Amino acid sequence: MNCRHCSKPLTHTFLDLGFAPPSNAYLSEADLTKPEKYYPLKVMVCDQCWLVQTEDYAQADELFSADYAYFSSTSSGWLVHAESYSKHVTKTFGLNSKSLVIEVASNDGYLLKNFVASGIPCIGIEPTESTAIAAEKLDIPVIREFFGETLGKRLAREGKQADLIAGNNVYAHVPDINDFTRGLKAALKSTGTITLEFPHLMQLIEHTQFDTVYHEHFSYLSLHTVNQIFNTAGLRIWHVEELSTHGGSLRVYGCHVQDERETTASVEKLLDEEQKNGLRHLETYQSFQPRANKVKNELIQFLIEKTRAGNKVVAYGAAAKGNTLLNYAGIKPDLLPLVLDAALAKQNKYMPGSHIPILPPSNIEDLKPDFVVILPWNIAEEVIKQNSAIREWGGKFITAVPELRVL
Ligand SMILES: [Zn+2]
Repeated sequence: MNCRHCSKPLTHTFLDLGFAPPSNAYLSEADLTKPEKYYPLKVMVCDQCWLVQTEDYAQADELFSADYAYFSSTSSGWLVHAESYSKHVTKTFGLNSKSLVIEVASNDGYLLKNFVASGIPCIGIEPTESTAIAAEKLDIPVIREFFGETLGKRLAREGKQADLIAGNNVYAHVPDINDFTRGLKAALKSTGTITLEFPHLMQLIEHTQFDTVYHEHFSYLSLHTVNQIFNTAGLRIWHVEELSTHGGSLRVYGCHVQDERETTASVEKLLDEEQKNGLRHLETYQSFQPRANKVKNELIQFLIEKTRAGNKVVAYGAAAKGNTLLNYAGIKPDLLPLVLDAALAKQNKYMPGSHIPILPPSNIEDLKPDFVVILPWNIAEEVIKQNSAIREWGGKFITAVPELRVL
């Protein structure tokens, strides 16, 4: 296989998590009697452009036929994040009723509804039918397609180039990252701005976030690599911000290469920091697997010890990262009997691979667990606040990544 950005043959493994079912393929009771399909979950690193990427595997297209759809609006923290972003960019770039905002992967309209409320014209791009319908109910026009150069050029021909193109947590999920970036270039006005948010590879490595690896997540990105991908497409990153979302993300601000805006010091500063953290050294990538294994082993050991001691342990949050962790660790209901989750779409289903049942959080009062393992550690604070009742019977919260912690 060759690198998806620079085409150099890939020879170095960053992380090998064996085989796993798609992380969002939640199972119904009837599914439990059927065979379950597992795909290789292996991540490579390119030693030329340092793009960290999932390995290609057979029948990858089948992965995306799963009917489960994530609705962004189910996370209250994410809605607040989206609203503050909208205010920030509206003010900074002077957006008004003559502007156009395009969001790629507009989901259920969690972000664009803020622009609609301010009278700023917008277009959402979203191929998932159920979320697109939800966005249209909020008066957001939606193009139900995957984004890339073809669609970008069509928007340009139709006079729909944008003053602002936003992409939150879509860039890492795109199989052809060069084509997607050329699409951004085509759909951008000559003075327009692109903002993209994606988890920062430097944080993934520093905090051993190996559970953020799953099949649908094609790229793991540093500023260094995204900078190169932008340049190749005729774009330039002129500013970057570090965010706390998803365990540490970047928000990059892009423009056309020939735009007159000056590049701020933030870009050089972060490129230096990545260099100091070894992001352009092969050893950094090659020493990651043993660290991931240590996290996995600590969790297994904890569950075995507590089970032997007769303690009741449950999990909270049937998130994709939970599935990566549980399946890599081979944890089944004997060690972790159930997962609590607030999303109606997941309740009374089963986790893919581990087949651990998912129940509504209201069960916590009857169960009175001694330990609650919070699988989506990035929302631990929110989960603890909502379930603080467990303190009444001496219950404790645990997170497993980057190391086993009692909270
Ligand atoms: Zn490369």
